[in-house]
Amino acid sequence: MTSAQPAPWRDADVISVCLTALVGVIMIVAAWFGAAGAASLTRQAGWATLAVAGLGVSGIGLCLWLLRLRRTIGQRRASLVSLDTPAEPLPAPPPRRQDTASLPLVRAAGMRKVHDPGCPLVAGKDVQPAALGDGEPCAVCAVCQL
Ligand SMILES: [Zn+2]
Repeated sequence: MTSAQPAPWRDADVISVCLTALVGVIMIVAAWFGAAGAASLTRQAGWATLAVAGLGVSGIGLCLWLLRLRRTIGQRRASLVSLDTPAEPLPAPPPRRQDTASLPLVRAAGMRKVHDPGCPLVAGKDVQPAALGDGEPCAVCAVCQL
């Protein structure tokens, strides 16, 4: 990660997850001490309810944190595979063919998958011709669906 990229979370997200975790732990510890001093089972059940609520508060905070991170990852992935028009236009992808024997495929050095020449994952890379058996078909350009 370069320093130019923003953190995947906001300050409010960090404060939110810390506060919910802190409140949850406080509720659990309070319930622990409360239940230790309670003699009747009915009163202990009340403290146990507080402990479960504390666990829920912590869990909700952590789930919101994970959802925020998941959303950020999805946005970054979408920006990496963005189909927006690049600075210099790419050549038009070849029309879909029924005969896959003569299908032009490319593969860049270090890539496991073979791609259609118009695939955004090989745009701007030094590619070499490849055959369908040279690697796995790319799911982004859907080589296997041509
Ligand atoms: Zn591809």
